[in-house]
Amino acid sequence: MVFRKTGNAAGACFAGGKPDTEKRGKRVVAPMRVLIVEDSEELADLLAKGLRAAGYQIDLLTNLADATSALGTTRYAALILDLGLPDGDGLSILRELRHRKDPLPILVLTARGGVEDRVSGLRSGADDYLVKPFSFDELVARLEALLRRPGQLLGSSLRLANVTFDSEGRQAFVDMKPQNLSAREIAVLELLLRRKGNVVSKKLLEDQIFGLTGDVASNAVEVYVHRLRKQLLDIGAKVKISTVRGVGYVMMESD
Ligand code: CA
Repeated sequence: MVFRKTGNAAGACFAGGKPDTEKRGKRVVAPMRVLIVEDSEELADLLAKGLRAAGYQIDLLTNLADATSALGTTRYAALILDLGLPDGDGLSILRELRHRKDPLPILVLTARGGVEDRVSGLRSGADDYLVKPFSFDELVARLEALLRRPGQLLGSSLRLANVTFDSEGRQAFVDMKPQNLSAREIAVLELLLRRKGNVVSKKLLEDQIFGLTGDVASNAVEVYVHRLRKQLLDIGAKVKISTVRGVGYVMMESD
């Protein structure tokens, strides 16, 4: 296995914590080691260069075999994973890691825009998803959001108060009792639960849940959030979805 490039912070290693941030307004980072698995050389180089400039130590690999091998021997703070790789589908790595209950934060990159692919990616245990083309700023923001959640096992089971969601089985439970929610209510619930306590933008909900099909009514997100709210109330869930005006929604434990 040969890394095409190694991090420029030689000798530095993952310190197991969050980056040291914000010192007199300037970001000072103890390098966190991030693995990028991406076979598009142009994109990979761009990402690596940008993330190194942002203070990360980057390993860059271009295929599944090398990635699997690196993940077996190196502890990374996060994985940025392309799905279409020359020797197979990146989802297989994702499934394997989650099968082992590995909580490694994983950000999936894919050219596939279909709803099915997004859902299947999230179901396989991805923490977040970016559909190409995306902006570099967006990638950094998403990566930082993932890294702010230290020690949280981001596996197939999500929980808040008395609500549990099994992302493998696509089943929501309240007080351990299975609940009947529509596929889209489930999709909204899952994303809000994955980011519980954090604001999820309306745009993200729309993009990630409804896809880029272009036929989503402008108020679709509101409609599904409204329905989910009502459902949660009806089934005695001790969580609430608050609207952050002009921004999005946040799911929290209710009082
Ligand atoms: Ca690819």
